[in-house]
Parts: sequence; structure tokens; C-alpha cells
Amino acid sequence: MHRVLILGGTSEGAALADKLSADPDFIPITSLAGRTREPKDVQGLLRQGGFGGVEGLVKYLKLEKVFAVLDATHPFATQITKNAFFACQIAKIPLARLTRKPWVAETGDDWDNVENIEQAVASIPVGARVFVTTGRQELEPYFKRDDIWTLVRVIDMPAKKLELGTGKFIAGRGPFSVEDEVDLMRDYEVDLLVSKNSGGQSSYGKIIAARRLGLPVIMVRAPELNLGTVVCYSLHEASDWLQGFLH
Ligand code: NAP
Repeated sequence: MHRVLILGGTSEGAALADKLSADPDFIPITSLAGRTREPKDVQGLLRQGGFGGVEGLVKYLKLEKVFAVLDATHPFATQITKNAFFACQIAKIPLARLTRKPWVAETGDDWDNVENIEQAVASIPVGARVFVTTGRQELEPYFKRDDIWTLVRVIDMPAKKLELGTGKFIAGRGPFSVEDEVDLMRDYEVDLLVSKNSGGQSSYGKIIAARRLGLPVIMVRAPELNLGTVVCYSLHEASDWLQGFLH
């Protein structure tokens, strides 16, 4: 039995843990950053919290006798992806990235592609009612704009309250259906969506909903790391890659 470290925090990471736990050759260990109060259950082993940079991860890989690492973290989680790359090189352990292809605009989409959250916030027109789905970690730039109204969706409700008239926090964890996203955007009369271009199916409902409602989207491009890591775009590819080390 070979211990496979899955750097998780995504639906793909959880699905990979499911798949590997049913495979007699592997023991999956899912690692979560520990940001979400009640993470979803995963099959196999689970650990939570940072490793302590590259050095900490190298120690962990050796101590736990990890056979291979699958980095299934979110496309915007760049620090852990870089750490995994360097740690696996140092520890001489195979590494692949399980990730998603970015979404591509289709007929009916009205996207303004930007490079980062600061640019996204700067592109919001005065007076807009904005549905913010870019996560809890980079909210300050939005709150500096007192000329917009924000509907902010986060997984865990933050302690911070928004001043009356400036916006509202709602808690929710995907996947969300297209119908629910349409209703939400209608109920709050939003006229603009800000989204990370995260790719994948689980958060694509809001993009289809915006298309249906004819709403513009400010789309933040995923950072490109170009580390040269092997990239898998499906569970099947990831599992084939792992199997390749057994024979
Ligand atoms: P990040 O900026 O790349 O990482 C910051 C630090 O958090 C890392 O240096 C590491 O700490 C720790 N860390 C991150 N992911 C970890 C994991 N899976 N297991 C153990 N430690 C981890 O990461 P982030 O953008 O804050 O994302 C954190 C988690 O949320 C990831 O698991 C990611 O898949 C998930 N997530 C992120 C986004 C997003 O938009 N960024 C969206 C959905 C889900 P040490 O240096 O101490 O090891």
C-alpha cells in the first residue's frame, strides 16, 4: 500500500480521495489548509493545517513515507502549489497537479477579463450592485469602494458585519444549481458578477446564470505558474499517472 498525499480543498481533491481509497494499491491522505470551519468529509486519511513552508512539507513527506503527491488545490492557491513543487524536488517524490481548464467565454457571455482582484474592483462601475464570489481572503479592495453595493458569498460567515446600505454577506458552499443562482441574482437585483476563472463544474452555475440574465461578468484570470509539473485534467489521468509508478 502506497501513501499518496492529496493537497486538497477542492471537489476534485475529494473525488480523487474517493477513487484512491477504493484502490488496494494506495492510501490517500488528504491535506486541507484548515480555513473552512466544517470541511466536507473525505475518504481515506485527513490532516489539516499548513506544513510550515517548503521545509515543513519536505519533513512531512519523509516522516509519513509519502510515495507520490497530487496537488489538487484550487487554481488560485499558488503558494502551496509552489511549495509542493520545490518540496517534491528536494524529497525526490513524484508530483502531479490535478487541475481544471479555465472557462472560455461562450456566445451570450459578456466578460471583462482582468488579472487580479484589484483590477476587478477598479473595473466595477459606480453605483453597481455586485455579486462577489472571489472568496473571503481578498475582500478589502471591495470594501474601499463606498459607491457600490456588494452581495458577498463566502463559505463561513465572517465576524465582520457590513454597514447597512453597503452590502450583505451570505454563506453558502457549492455546487449551486443554475436555477438557484438565477433566483439569487434576481432576488438581490445584482447587475454584475465578479468571479475567479476557476474552471470546473462545481462553480460554473453562476456563469450560466449570468449568461441567462444577460449580466456582465468581471472574470479574474487564473495565475500561471509554469513550473513544469505534470498536469492531469481528470481523475482518470491522475490515477493512470500514479499507476505508472507501480509497474
Ligand atoms: P495558498 O495561498 O496557496 O497557501 C497559503 C498557505 O496555506 C500555504 O503556504 C500552506 O501553508 C497552506 N496551505 C494551502 N493549502 C494547503 C493544503 N491543501 N494543505 C495544507 N496546507 C495548505 O492557498 P489558499 O489560496 O489560501 O488556499 C487554501 C486552501 O483553500 C487550498 O487547499 C485551496 O485548494 C483551497 N481553495 C482556495 C481557493 C482560492 O481561491 N485561493 C478557492 C477554493 C479553495 P504552509 O506554508 O504552512 O504549508
